Amino acid sequence: MRKYVILGVQGSGKGTQSAMLAGDLDLVHISVGDIFRWHVKNHTKLGAQVRRLVAAGELVGDDLVESVVRDRLQQHDWNYGFIIDGFPRNRRQAEFFLESYDIDGVIHLDLPDEEVRRRVLARRLCSRCGMDYNLIAHRPAEEGRCDVCGGELVSRADDTPDALARRLREHHSKIDPVVELFRRKEYVMTVDARADKATVQRAIRTRFNLPPYLPPQ
Ligand SMILES: [Zn+2]
Repeated sequence: MRKYVILGVQGSGKGTQSAMLAGDLDLVHISVGDIFRWHVKNHTKLGAQVRRLVAAGELVGDDLVESVVRDRLQQHDWNYGFIIDGFPRNRRQAEFFLESYDIDGVIHLDLPDEEVRRRVLARRLCSRCGMDYNLIAHRPAEEGRCDVCGGELVSRADDTPDALARRLREHHSKIDPVVELFRRKEYVMTVDARADKATVQRAIRTRFNLPPYLPPQ
């Protein structure tokens, strides 16, 4: 059984690295963001609650995140272990997590703020079908048009330099103490997330003595 936490700022590749790690090792990838998105999309009671918060310009509270994570882990469908992404979000949650689960390691994807800005501000979204693009790594064939449906590509409303600067400050104020706490317990492996995704994945596996990455056939 392997239990990992992955920490990193948005744009650091947490989702990608988690999926690469989970695949052949049969780990369950628990993404708190995906759980909330699922609830919103499927119009659950929790989804309605989240939508109200977002509409009011508020963040989903720590208590709500905590209860969602607890429920998810109680399903015990993770026979070979899990990798959790989007939790813990602050020091208190990190302490709770350490008391409840004997984790094997914390993967800390380190990306300088300047590179986060470069990556996040290059994101585009199709206004018609919702397909994601990126002007660095995944450019559309025709500028400003979706390859799939021809819809207009737009930036997300919250991907402005000001909003991003705010999110970065918020991230550092909450997550830096979490990294610090885990580091004292010697769980943390910091990876330079500027490298390409295969290199980052190799570094993670080497550090935790895991079998080499095999891309899906
Ligand atoms: Zn489209």
